[in-house]
Amino acid sequence: MTAAGCPSCGRLLDLHNRHVRFTLPDPVLDAPGKETTPGTWISHGNARDSAMMQVPNVGAFVRALLPIKLTEGHTVTFGVWLAVDPRELRSVFDVWWEPEYRDLRLTGRLANTIPPWGMLAAPVETVVRDPDETPYCESSEDPQLDRVLRGEWPHDLVLTATGQG
Ligand SMILES: [Zn+2]
Repeated sequence: MTAAGCPSCGRLLDLHNRHVRFTLPDPVLDAPGKETTPGTWISHGNARDSAMMQVPNVGAFVRALLPIKLTEGHTVTFGVWLAVDPRELRSVFDVWWEPEYRDLRLTGRLANTIPPWGMLAAPVETVVRDPDETPYCESSEDPQLDRVLRGEWPHDLVLTATGQG
């Protein structure tokens, strides 16, 4: 079997539906102790597997999925962190593994820089599409992020920015 090339950009089709998971929120990455800062709480054994974290003097963060639609039906999905109000983290934690999770709606700010656009700290609203997945970024009051969420993007623009040649 020969690997199929994309008629639009020439890359292997297998490279188009990528998942790019950020290990840490950018503000935590910039903190001297990162996730080992004293007093840090993470929801799972390590930062990469965690769905929630709180770092003293840096903030509270919840994971979400940010799907970017490419032309011809492909999707690149970023596993991002959202900065949320620390006072809200407890209520998120309380429903995370419960039936009420499907009704969870979060308002936060992107805590990762999304290539090629950036958009760090852009406000975003999430919804739960699948109880077995983290919430999805749905809409934004930020015109650029809202356009990114609703648009369809050229393969080269997104795949080059995420390191696929
Ligand atoms: Zn392509």
